[in-house]
Amino acid sequence: MRKLLAGLLLWGTLSTVWAATALPPVAMRTLSASDPQGLIVKLRAALDAGVYAGNPAGEREALWWMGHAAINASDDAAVTEAVARLKSMGSVGHDTLAESYAGFLNADLRIAHGDGGGVSDALQAAALQLDNPDPAHRALAKFQLCDIYSMAGQHHHSQPLCKQADAAFGGLHDDWDQAQAKNDEGNNAYGMGQYDAAGTFYEQARALYEKAGDRSQALMVGDNLAQVLLKQGKPKQAIALSRASLADERAAGRESDALISQHDIARAMEATGQHRDAMDLVASTVDEARKAHLDGLLPDLLQEQSRMAERNGNLKLALAAARESATVARTHWTSSLRSQQAELAARYAAREKEIRIRELERNNQIKNLKLQAAGADAERNVMQMRRQRTTLVAALAATLGLVVGVVSLLLLLRSQRRHTQELRRQALEDPLTGVDNRRGFFRRAEKLLGKRDAERPPLHALLLFDFDYFKRINDRCGHPFGDIVLNVSLQRLREAVGKRGRLARLGGEEFIVLCPRIGGAAASQLAGDMRAAIAGLEFPNAPDDLEVTISIGMALFDGMRCHDVGSWLRAADDAMYAAKARGRDQVVVAQEVDHLLRQAGAPIGD
Ligand code: GH3
Ligand code: MG
Ligand code: MG
Repeated sequence: MRKLLAGLLLWGTLSTVWAATALPPVAMRTLSASDPQGLIVKLRAALDAGVYAGNPAGEREALWWMGHAAINASDDAAVTEAVARLKSMGSVGHDTLAESYAGFLNADLRIAHGDGGGVSDALQAAALQLDNPDPAHRALAKFQLCDIYSMAGQHHHSQPLCKQADAAFGGLHDDWDQAQAKNDEGNNAYGMGQYDAAGTFYEQARALYEKAGDRSQALMVGDNLAQVLLKQGKPKQAIALSRASLADERAAGRESDALISQHDIARAMEATGQHRDAMDLVASTVDEARKAHLDGLLPDLLQEQSRMAERNGNLKLALAAARESATVARTHWTSSLRSQQAELAARYAAREKEIRIRELERNNQIKNLKLQAAGADAERNVMQMRRQRTTLVAALAATLGLVVGVVSLLLLLRSQRRHTQELRRQALEDPLTGVDNRRGFFRRAEKLLGKRDAERPPLHALLLFDFDYFKRINDRCGHPFGDIVLNVSLQRLREAVGKRGRLARLGGEEFIVLCPRIGGAAASQLAGDMRAAIAGLEFPNAPDDLEVTISIGMALFDGMRCHDVGSWLRAADDAMYAAKARGRDQVVVAQEVDHLLRQAGAPIGD
């Protein structure tokens, strides 16, 4: 809050006569600011006691300071009293100076009540002095106008008048009054947002007050300067200035000014971000103002407290402080204030409701989020279970599929193996007799000769046999009967051969027995057994004289003449033909054939 020093008007050159019991001018100037009520009481007592009888100049000055003290103390009755007395002096004693003082005080009163009409009062009052031959009176008139316009917030109008007053007081070397003009220039510049200029004016005002020896006023201007520094974003310097002024005010017991300075400090602290300290300082300042019954300060302080509390989110305190501020200001209780108060209360109520709703909403949101989270968890669990179930089902299906597949594959393999076996059997087996066919024989014989021990004793033997005169059997008994003969014979031979060898059909009614590691003697024995087996056979529905015999050629695998399957088979074949040649139904051994051939001088071999 900028301190307006208008109330501390000049004494200076105007005071000419002073009664011995009257207060000295400097004392009145000081008291009008520091103890306005005390000064009013003292001056009223002096006036009533006739201290100023015969001293109109002294009475005029006393009334002037009484008026200012009354304005400072918001004591409208005292202002009206001073104005009335000055007016009376003006009309009765034709004292235009008193009349103009009355006009200025009346203007101040109206301005203090927000009445713009005060400016016209001031203009009229000034008009009485502007052509005064005394430059001090002209300077005073200019300064009063400057001050009134400044207080009325008309800074553009005020500033040129303040400059003129400033120059005039400068010319008069009246430092103290020039300081007042400078201070108002600072106030105007501040009001117009020219903070740098305001700073300069305040600095100058401060220096002039110091020069005039008024340290208190210098410190009060320092408070104004602190506000500029705050605007300029230099809260720390502002705090330093306000603290200096606070110390002075405390020392001088100027409680009201001290609290204003404390208020300034709190605002600067808030600007430095010390919200809690600022709040605490405002709270203690409010308490001090309450205790000191400084009701004039309370509304501003409480409003500040309310603003800070609101900014810090303490709405309860904000509302309480705003309400108290309005209650304290009830002396100025107007319908507009009432409506402002109602609006404020409604705004806070709405804000409180809003905050409560927001809290509820936030709680609901938290609950919703929790619910959503729980829902999501449940869903995730269900999904997981489903996934597990699906996985299980899939695994079961896969296992089942695998089992089915493996079983099918095994079955398929088995059937294929059977089929293959059947094909192989068909490929290697004679369909009529069930013994190996020619290919079967060769495969087995070659496999046998491929073994290492092929040439070692006991020797392998081949018994090749052909049915004797079979064509005749067919011719006599029919081909089917011939088949039966072949079939029955082979079954019998198979029994006779047993494990000693393996039967195979080479073609037609020509067969062979492959006997691995049988040796010559056993082979001969087997050949004999075979002949006997066939000879002993009887066939159903066969002619009585039917004779079924076989001729056998035997060859031992010797690794020389018989060195492979081909040579070995030819040897057996030769032996078999030799048996035919010798009269059939007998066994001929290949080696014997060789011997015979050698005897006959024929070459041996292919
Ligand atoms: P040989 O004592 O000289 O062998 O006189 P053979 O009559 O047996 O003469 P050969 O061996 O030359 O004739 C074989 C005959 O056997 C000719 C053919 O009709 C007959 N034959 C061959 N295979 C079969 C068969 O599977 N079933 C029947 N029923 N006859 C066959
Ligand atoms: Mg034959
Ligand atoms: Mg034959």
